[in-house]
Amino acid sequence: CLQIQRALLALTIPLETLQAVKGRMLQAMHKGLSRQTHAQADVRMLPTYVCSTPDGTEKGEFLVVEMCQNHVRTLWMALAGDGNQSPQITYKTFDMPEDIMQGKGEALFDFIAQSLRQFLDGIGRPQHHLPLGFVFPFSCRQTQLDKAELISWSKGFSCSDVEGRDVVQLLQSAINKQELYHVEVVALLNDTVGTMMTCSLSGKPCEIALIVDKGTNSCFMTEAHLVEMVEDSSGQMCVNTEWGYFGDDGALRDILTPYDHNVDKESSNPGTKRFEKLIGSLYLGEIVRHVLITLAAEKALFIGRNIAILRKKGSIKTQQILEIIDSEKGMAEAKRTLEALGLQPSEQDCCRVQQVCRMVLSRAAALCATGLAAILSYMCRSRELEHLSVNVAVDGDLYQGQSRFGEILQSVTGLLAPECSATLLPSVDGTGKGAAMVTAVALRLAAHRREVNELLAPLRLSRADLEHVQALMRQEMELGLKQETNDTSSLRMLPTYVCGTPDGTEQGDFLALDLGGTNFRVLVVRIAEDGIRMASEIYIIPINIMQGTGEALFDHIVNCIADFQLKHELMGQVLPLGFTFSFPCQQLGLDKAVLLSWTKGFSASGCVGQDVVQLLRQAAQRKQYSGLKVVAVVNDTVGTMMSCGHEDPKCEIGLIVGTGTNACYMEEMQNVGTVEGDEGRMCINMEWGAFGDNGCLNDFFTDFDRLVDEKTINPGRQRFEKLISGMYLGEIVRHILLTLVEKQLLFQGRPCPKLHTKDIFQTKFLSEIDGLAVQHVQTILQNLELKASFEDSALVREVCQTVSLRAAQLCAAGLAAVAEKMRQSRGLPHLAVTVGVDGTLYKMHPSFSKHIEQTLKYLAPHCAVTFLRSEDGSGKGAALVAAVACRGAE
Ligand code: ADP
Ligand code: MG
Repeated sequence: CLQIQRALLALTIPLETLQAVKGRMLQAMHKGLSRQTHAQADVRMLPTYVCSTPDGTEKGEFLVVEMCQNHVRTLWMALAGDGNQSPQITYKTFDMPEDIMQGKGEALFDFIAQSLRQFLDGIGRPQHHLPLGFVFPFSCRQTQLDKAELISWSKGFSCSDVEGRDVVQLLQSAINKQELYHVEVVALLNDTVGTMMTCSLSGKPCEIALIVDKGTNSCFMTEAHLVEMVEDSSGQMCVNTEWGYFGDDGALRDILTPYDHNVDKESSNPGTKRFEKLIGSLYLGEIVRHVLITLAAEKALFIGRNIAILRKKGSIKTQQILEIIDSEKGMAEAKRTLEALGLQPSEQDCCRVQQVCRMVLSRAAALCATGLAAILSYMCRSRELEHLSVNVAVDGDLYQGQSRFGEILQSVTGLLAPECSATLLPSVDGTGKGAAMVTAVALRLAAHRREVNELLAPLRLSRADLEHVQALMRQEMELGLKQETNDTSSLRMLPTYVCGTPDGTEQGDFLALDLGGTNFRVLVVRIAEDGIRMASEIYIIPINIMQGTGEALFDHIVNCIADFQLKHELMGQVLPLGFTFSFPCQQLGLDKAVLLSWTKGFSASGCVGQDVVQLLRQAAQRKQYSGLKVVAVVNDTVGTMMSCGHEDPKCEIGLIVGTGTNACYMEEMQNVGTVEGDEGRMCINMEWGAFGDNGCLNDFFTDFDRLVDEKTINPGRQRFEKLISGMYLGEIVRHILLTLVEKQLLFQGRPCPKLHTKDIFQTKFLSEIDGLAVQHVQTILQNLELKASFEDSALVREVCQTVSLRAAQLCAAGLAAVAEKMRQSRGLPHLAVTVGVDGTLYKMHPSFSKHIEQTLKYLAPHCAVTFLRSEDGSGKGAALVAAVACRGAE
């Protein structure tokens, strides 16, 4: 029959069209999530502030109050924390008098609170603290889990004085009026979220929920930063899609049939919820009714019968459709239903009606699958996975009542999102049990958060803290510069005898040595008008030489220089040499530096207390090597400042944040009490890594810092460095993680033998983890044999960010003290200065430099500080010091 064919065809959506609809759904979801377009989006993607699924450790007693169409349901649930195996549940339903629905808001909430009191009376009046979840299925502007303003009533409710107000507060006040002070409303939620929660009760978490009931809706877990309306963007959040409104902007135009338009026109809300009207059980009966009207008019059905009854809205119920579809009893049901309507159907009529019913249901299931596929693909893509495997909770009479619906839902989803596998799980009592679970999870998270915050609080520095550090740094600088007080300061403030930065006129060929960095190197540096060219060789210093005698060490160095000159055809030339010697030295002249102590694994004997330039010259004499003319010894901070100074004359500060940390800057000679003369400036090597070694920073050290310090080769020393530099940040993080595990706040308290290994958590992980999506953090932790859940990974990331933020801010406090001192010494209202920086931590960490700059802005508001990354400061810089010295000599 042609007419029947045509009707069925109109209700069939080809796979390509479903694909296209899925694409449009994805677009609509993005629109709803984006801050700019959220307000106009029809798929609203509402944040629910539900940030986790149950993990089985939830424990305690919980209450739920659920507002339904015409009753209030109360529920009590007890969880034992045993994996939620067998929650104990009791509930009771209270019919709501009709006048309450349109009466005063106060009366409505009083009724709810009274029902709750009756319920509690019935279960023996528990007196301990009872957290409560409030299921409130109306459109709300939610801003916290326990804060939601009612936007507008629907579903027949119109109580006064509620719209625009926080319904959580209204309920809490009503509960307090009943003197139930031990009941605390901790969560307000929508029914979809509860559905998702009930299916998370056992084993693998369930991260998507679908509701196919009178209406349709869905929710899913996503990363909070993708929900742009939410300020706090760490961790996960469940998003309530409100996808029933999909298509209200015309996105479903090509699949809507004349039947759908008729159903929409006759509905109470024409023009809206177009997607829901193709799927929800409130509408399927209506769609079938309109198909039948059309077919009857076309004389393809009920020929010669009076079909007036079909024109009556609601004359065909969705429940009847579900029964008619049944392959065994369906024909009999069709006959019975149609006869009851007085349509006197023929055998053929029954058969055709059954076909129509099947088609309408199949279409609904396929469209539901399209939406689900969009969510799956979204999750898979945003998690950057190749394959996503996920549990999906499904609730509603269509799914539970008709196996055909579930079959189509499953198979079409597979076709439209082949990169994902979804396991559909029927949900049981989502709004009741699920709501109690939300409440339980919220409580677990809140307690967890409180403890984590308490633990991390000492690492979080306020503006006042940083200003205090800055003031201390300033004070210690002043003390260190004066001859009389130098030994009371933790800052050595060593004169470097470098009295000028490059002015661009320097020229010539120079040798440079770099000892004390990661490698020992010899370089030749050609400084010309058109730029600097360098060649270098790396030489190994065997450990027996590092820790042998000073003579052997310096003999080895001279051998390396000779080898280098040979290789680079420099034999016979005597080039001025700059020596980057990155150990603390008391400098007595540009080419005179007394070693104060070895660090970084060196311990060659007979060197401490000696002038290292002299040691080098003596070695050359021993070897009868005459090609050596040492003109300058420099620290790597100075080298860094000088190499950047060649590019930018404003560069008058040097900073290192690598294995260790240190800084230098140009100070007025009149302020340098440890060197004769008042003219001009001299670069001061602060040795700021030791800041605080006299106890002035004790208030800022945390237990974690103390643990790290105790395990170093120099406990009690280099205290500032131990808060900032690469050698220690990973260790600080490791100690925090250990404490978190011990307090059962991480990895569910499972022991982590790996984490007890010193240096297992490298500082480079802080860089890697900092900007990463949580899934990738999870992978990094897996490589460390740490089995981390989503929440664990987010917490590890938070710890890393906290530790590196503190390091950057402390660095900024130090720099602020330096820059401000320079500005004030020069009597300037405003100082523009450049910091030359080197060090792998500074260069590789994705947000370290940004945090330094941000913090400096408010700590040194009268200074414009810019940063320049040094390239090979210890090579180029040493040569430039030599060049500047030669320039001065001429
Ligand atoms: P040095 O200070 O000895 O001259 P570097 O400046 O290269 O050496 O710094 C080395 C330090 O940088 C190492 O101790 C390590 O902790 C740290 N580090 C290495 N890679 C990274 C990275 N990707 N992010 C942050 N820190 C790193
Ligand atoms: Mg270095």
